[in-house]
Amino acid sequence: MKNIKRLWTYFRAQKLFILAAMVASVFVSATDGATAYIVKHILDGIFIDKDETLLKLIPLAIIIMYTFRFGARIVQSYFIQHAGQKAVQDIREDLYYKMIHLPMHYFDNNDTGAMMARIINDVSYLKSAVPAALKMFRSGLSIFFLIAVVLYQDPILGSTVFIAIPFMALLIDKTGRKVKKYSKKQQQRVGEMATALQESFSGVAVVKSFANEDKESKNFFILNANAVKYRLKQVMVNAISAPLMETIAGFAVAAIIFYGGMRVISGETTAGTFFSFVTAFGLMFDPFKKINEYNSTIQTANAAADRIFGVMDMENSILDNDGTLECDAKDKIIRFDNVHFSYSSTPEEVLNGINITVQPGTTVALVGSSGAGKSTIASLIPRFYDVTAGSISIDGTDIRDFKVHSLRKNIGIVSQEPFLFNMPIRDNIAYGRQDSDFDDIRKAADSAYALKFIEALPDGFDTIIGERGDRLSGGQKQRLTIARALLQNPPILILDEATSALDTESERIVQKALTNLMTGRTSFVIAHRLSTILNADMIVVLDKGKIEATGTHTELLAKSTTYSRLCNLQFTTEEAK
Ligand code: ADP
Repeated sequence: MKNIKRLWTYFRAQKLFILAAMVASVFVSATDGATAYIVKHILDGIFIDKDETLLKLIPLAIIIMYTFRFGARIVQSYFIQHAGQKAVQDIREDLYYKMIHLPMHYFDNNDTGAMMARIINDVSYLKSAVPAALKMFRSGLSIFFLIAVVLYQDPILGSTVFIAIPFMALLIDKTGRKVKKYSKKQQQRVGEMATALQESFSGVAVVKSFANEDKESKNFFILNANAVKYRLKQVMVNAISAPLMETIAGFAVAAIIFYGGMRVISGETTAGTFFSFVTAFGLMFDPFKKINEYNSTIQTANAAADRIFGVMDMENSILDNDGTLECDAKDKIIRFDNVHFSYSSTPEEVLNGINITVQPGTTVALVGSSGAGKSTIASLIPRFYDVTAGSISIDGTDIRDFKVHSLRKNIGIVSQEPFLFNMPIRDNIAYGRQDSDFDDIRKAADSAYALKFIEALPDGFDTIIGERGDRLSGGQKQRLTIARALLQNPPILILDEATSALDTESERIVQKALTNLMTGRTSFVIAHRLSTILNADMIVVLDKGKIEATGTHTELLAKSTTYSRLCNLQFTTEEAK
């Protein structure tokens, strides 16, 4: 019920359409009652009393009634669908907006496919909720009018319908509960299936290289079968409940014929009234069946709403506690002050009392074995995560006091996995500064040593690079991300050096592009190359979340055994080049 109330907030904007549909519904339901009512007069008036006026009036009345019913049904079904689609549009927008703003740890803990399924699949279940509720209302009204007619014509015979109603109501309730349960399970399975799809298609090269197409197919078949299993359980519930309802109705009809027939024979009621009653009961049965169906639809939507509103209610610890200050980090000192950090998924501290002071315009190389905490330090600066204790400050101001978007505009990130969007090169470069004019885009490409290869492409800057920039080499993609960072022109840089070396020639060009990028900026480099370390103003040696030592290369060789070991292990191959 809580969900339905919240869903209503989305349908509220459509209230005029819904109101029109409701008015039309009342009319359609009233025609059901009128049809049953007329049967009495057809039988008693036309067939028994042979009344010629009625013979003309009744067909005319039926024609007029059904002409209006035609219009009313159109209004009812189009307007209500319109309201459903528009509400879904709004829910989808809100859900996507919410999700894309959620903090990083949400994305660490949820699979991409499942998130996509929520927006595409789950949301689509919602559109039928209010239309189904409206149709339920209409069916309820039809039942109301039909009961009114039979009670009016013969209160004693009429009241027998109340014997069948509790059975029907119980059945509807039980069906609804079961449908909700299976529907929720099925939606989860669809999410899992979407994750498997997303993974196997985006990692298709790995799948193929291990010749694992069959293994992946088998995995997918299992997930698919699982989703179908719950769908079928739902279908089974509906498959049983509809005929069960028919059976209840059949038994009731048998009882009515016996009891009603007795009343006609004994002269307590007329044949017309009896047939009116049977017609009304027949007409009533359909709305009951529909209520059962619509209730299933509503319960499916209810299950989807649980999943959707669950996400909408998530707290965004970072954006909900946004600071108020504008950030300008140019030429400012950056300090890590006794920073502690642990990821929400694990209690262990990943960073344990980090103190670093970085002078403006200098380069800090973060080194340490894998898992030491280098990437974590880098991700705290743009507040992808918040420190659990201590603080990070820019020119003395805690970064949590800045508006987070303003802070992030001061930080450029070039990661070892260059990510480019499926759009023209020019838009990819301008991603961080969309109002840039073409001259600036071109200049950034030039400084990133990307201009030559871009201009050699048949469509130049207009070339659309695929989802993963497949037409470009690794070094070219890197240089495009460097151009993107250059155009953004941030005072702080975070560079994650590629561990897998490019070929020597591309490596040299990427290095030159990076040198252009780093000039005049404060840079944090997750360093894997000796050349970077030698050029750094300060090297921070990390070991298991703690700073082991800081200094320059020669200082550290003298005082840090971890550093000497790292140098021997990781950087010797490069020295040999
Ligand atoms: P490095 O960059 O030095 O290789 P990281 O900063 O990536 O190290 O990781 C430090 C520690 O934090 C590791 O133990 C790693 O398993 C853990 N870790 C990294 N990212 C996450 C995450 N998103 N959730 C939970 N633990 C993480």
